[in-house]
Amino acid sequence: MTPGEGAREGTRDHSRAVGKLQALVRIPTVSHRDWSLVDTDAFDRLLVELERQFPLLHERLELTRIPTHALLLRWPGRSSERPVVLMAHLDVVPVEGTWQHPPFSGDVVDGSIWGRGTLDDKGCVAAICEAVETLLEDGFVPAQDVWLSFGCNEEVSGEAATLAVEELARRDVRPWFVLDEGGAVASEAFPGVAAPVGVVGVTEKGVTSLELRVEGRGGHASTPARMGPTARIARAITRIDRSPMPASTPEPTIELFRRMAPHAPLPLRALMANAGRLGPVLTRALVAAGPEPAAMTRTTFAVTTLSGSPALNVVAATAKAGVNIRIMVGDTVAGVLEHVRKVVADDQVHIDVVEQNEPSPVSPRDEAFGLVETTIAELFPDAVPAPYVMMAATDSRFFTRICDRVYRFAPFRMTKAQRESIHSYDEHLGVDAFLDGVRWYRRLIERLPA
Ligand SMILES: [Zn+2]
Repeated sequence: MTPGEGAREGTRDHSRAVGKLQALVRIPTVSHRDWSLVDTDAFDRLLVELERQFPLLHERLELTRIPTHALLLRWPGRSSERPVVLMAHLDVVPVEGTWQHPPFSGDVVDGSIWGRGTLDDKGCVAAICEAVETLLEDGFVPAQDVWLSFGCNEEVSGEAATLAVEELARRDVRPWFVLDEGGAVASEAFPGVAAPVGVVGVTEKGVTSLELRVEGRGGHASTPARMGPTARIARAITRIDRSPMPASTPEPTIELFRRMAPHAPLPLRALMANAGRLGPVLTRALVAAGPEPAAMTRTTFAVTTLSGSPALNVVAATAKAGVNIRIMVGDTVAGVLEHVRKVVADDQVHIDVVEQNEPSPVSPRDEAFGLVETTIAELFPDAVPAPYVMMAATDSRFFTRICDRVYRFAPFRMTKAQRESIHSYDEHLGVDAFLDGVRWYRRLIERLPA
């Protein structure tokens, strides 16, 4: 922060920014796969509230509404050569579990703003908008065009993000980089590493789902035949479970370990620092360390849905199993299908692809990544910036079609408990963490090179 900027910052009313996030959290914009179940009135109200809270942004930026309730905004910069896209989403997941504070209250308690969406992802929406609003108040013009893309159905893999990409492609916009949710300034990120790690997702696993199905004769449960549909489906499941795909440690993960090494406990330091050379050793250690670290090294298969006969005394005529697969960078949908067919080794098991997504290409760590990284270092001097492979999916995966550099990072300090509250209960964001996030987006925009 330059001295002048600090002085301006000092006079600004921070409670104003917090009030804006509270107002957004209080509107329950819960999305559903079936859009007819959605309270569209809530989404309408959210868009009205956004306009009320960020008047300059709505006056000065060119707004395109993307069906049904997504926004694409263009802030013209001094140049359109290297436009950037800042992303976030307006929808939230339904409320789960018992909360200490009502999930749509936006209450500020013990220095935190509580509620569904504070971390995922209205915190980012409010921080991006407040950064832009305050820069507009200061008369700032960005060096490059800054686009804001706010989706309305990220949590249900809706098509708003795809439509936003189509709109950008239609207008011939080739972003220099795209920044979406994903990583964070994560404390307790790795056992023994005391420093928070500012993890920036440079790729994400591909989500693919299969349905396995076996048809048979059915009939009365008093005269069952051997190897009926349920037995065959069960055998297929155990075969998939017993035969994981090969594990390896991808390059961004090796770099993550390298960067954490100086902050790690002494016995682990050498292994982490030499992760590149000791790849196979590291991979074995991760696989052995439990399901979460193991998921960092390979494509995973989870059998999620199962169905057979609807009655206790009826043999199933059809048995089905749903398999949710997270494809590791380096593997492909075709390769995964081949693996499943090979290990199931039963041509009576029909395999249907329900959804398919390849893993996202790995974004380079060049000047744009450097900008994100140095802005992390500036605002979070105690944190270690590092790339990583995201396990979850974000809307930004659709932007890889028009942009080589897609980074996934929310500039908020999050504890382990906070990260676990996402999609669960007691989601809350520290007031100071939120304000640091606003400053982070401001600095990122201010630092865009000519
Ligand atoms: Zn999200």
